[in-house]
Amino acid sequence: QAKLKGKNRLQFFNRDIAGGIQRKQFIERTLTKAIEHSHFHLVYMPIYSAVSREVVGVEVLIRAPTLTAKGIGPEEFIPVAESTGLIKAIDTWVLNESLSRLNYVSDRYGFDGFFAINISAVELHNKEFPGTVRSMLMKHQVVPERIELEITETSFVDNIEGSIRQLNHLKSLGVSLSLDDFGTGYTAFTQLIEFPVDKVKIDRSFIQGLSNSSTDKRRMVDIVLALADLYQLEVIAEGVENEAQIGYLKDRGCEMLQGFYLSKPLSWNDFQKLIEHAE
Ligand code: C2E
Ligand code: MG
Ligand code: MG
Ligand code: MG
Repeated sequence: QAKLKGKNRLQFFNRDIAGGIQRKQFIERTLTKAIEHSHFHLVYMPIYSAVSREVVGVEVLIRAPTLTAKGIGPEEFIPVAESTGLIKAIDTWVLNESLSRLNYVSDRYGFDGFFAINISAVELHNKEFPGTVRSMLMKHQVVPERIELEITETSFVDNIEGSIRQLNHLKSLGVSLSLDDFGTGYTAFTQLIEFPVDKVKIDRSFIQGLSNSSTDKRRMVDIVLALADLYQLEVIAEGVENEAQIGYLKDRGCEMLQGFYLSKPLSWNDFQKLIEHAE
């Protein structure tokens, strides 16, 4: 086989970049249309009490069917939305839709768990965001205690002080805050304590490490649980995939569990069936 010559390599490289840009532009165009026509829906991933195994809350996750058809999920389209400014409209849509669904399941099934809503990093630097949350709560007459906003630690790196101020502003509305994907970013344990959050979600890579006899990952889980205990933060373990992990987490005081083993993200109908039978 002939080795790739410098020029050929460059052509491959350029083609990849061009492909990447085209893909990004496709996502941007499709998202713009989806926003115009509200072509989104939510799926509902239950969060369980580690002790009682009851559903205590639900994380709402966005889906864009016109992108799903092309194999593009939120992991890929949310960053495009963030870099193009489309994210504000999407986050607002998600908030509005979530609160209206929350009211429906509360009225119809007496569901009293919390709704966990993912918030883009962009909103931590958006002065209008707390006002948006407040008017949504008022519009839907939802008590703020039912709402948990999930933020990822990578959102803080630009401007830690500004982020903390924004988090305090959000907290003053009465909603609770949770730090998502903990362990994957750059937050030091000491910063975890500075952030005014109520809950920490341990990223699924660490929970999966519990089964791989990965000492580092296990230590990380142990330390988060110990610190959370000390500072009175609640812990949600993400990506739970078997009973052994549940046993380990429960023994160490982890309050809540989420993962494919317990439930995959559910359609609106299946979520209703789940909580209907729980009553
Ligand atoms: P996330 O907030 O960490 O959400 C959890 C993701 O992990 C979900 O993927 C969920 O399906 C997946 N997951 C949960 N348990 C397991 C498990 O046991 N095994 C495996 N393999 N996966 C599991 P999804 O729905 O593709 O979402 C990806 C990310 O996109 C989310 O990560 C979140 O950062 C973002 N996202 C999703 N919905 C929204 C939204 O409405 N707004 C914003 N701003 N971001 C969102
Ligand atoms: Mg999340
Ligand atoms: Mg997460
Ligand atoms: Mg994530």
